[in-house]
Amino acid sequence: MQLQPRDTGWIEVVCGSMFSGKTEELIRRVRLARIARQKTVIFKPRVDDRYAERQIVSHDDQRMDSIPVVHAEEILERVGDDIDVVGIDEAQFFGIDLVAVCENLANRGKRVIVAGLDQDYRGRPFEPIPSLLSVAEFVTKNLAVCVKCGNPANRSQRITGSTARIVVGAAEAYEARCRRCFNTEPDDPSEGIDD
Ligand code: ADP
Ligand code: MG
Ligand code: ZN
Repeated sequence: MQLQPRDTGWIEVVCGSMFSGKTEELIRRVRLARIARQKTVIFKPRVDDRYAERQIVSHDDQRMDSIPVVHAEEILERVGDDIDVVGIDEAQFFGIDLVAVCENLANRGKRVIVAGLDQDYRGRPFEPIPSLLSVAEFVTKNLAVCVKCGNPANRSQRITGSTARIVVGAAEAYEARCRRCFNTEPDDPSEGIDD
């Protein structure tokens, strides 16, 4: 019995709501890989410049250097043969193209660690994470703490008025909420998963 696959790449997904510790977990896994003398690189979407342009930053202010990219395909061009571990944060901003990119990297023998939101602000499945969960070898779903009642929280409540699917923000724009305390938008009574 071995703890990790040998002589092959694989995909790990770390998902959950805002504040659930996805970035912290990504940083922890990459830090341990570095201690094991693995060569690592982290990518983030350029659109996410909330805290730093060239770092991923957790809500608890843990930081790690990263390369900002606009399109998922750029990740492929920037990962050389020498890289062992590829980290990708805020996967939801890359869209569905990220699935093929992660598969390609894993097929090239890389360990790929992807962190991202699994639901949008209305509680609907948010690609590419649902598809990545299907093709990944390892999946981790984190929960935050509901700011209203303290229950485990799996939803990200947007507390601004915007109805755009992507609004980059943190504590000023979103709250972690549990199922009971989460409100769907008043203009979206269906609560369905279809667009
Ligand atoms: P994510 O990347 O999932 O948004 P981070 O890894 O950036 O999450 O931040 C997780 C940290 O956020 C926690 O360790 C904690 O210090 C902080 N935090 C702030 N509010 C909450 C909350 N409501 N629930 C859980 N953690 C929270
Ligand atoms: Mg994060
Ligand atoms: Zn609650």
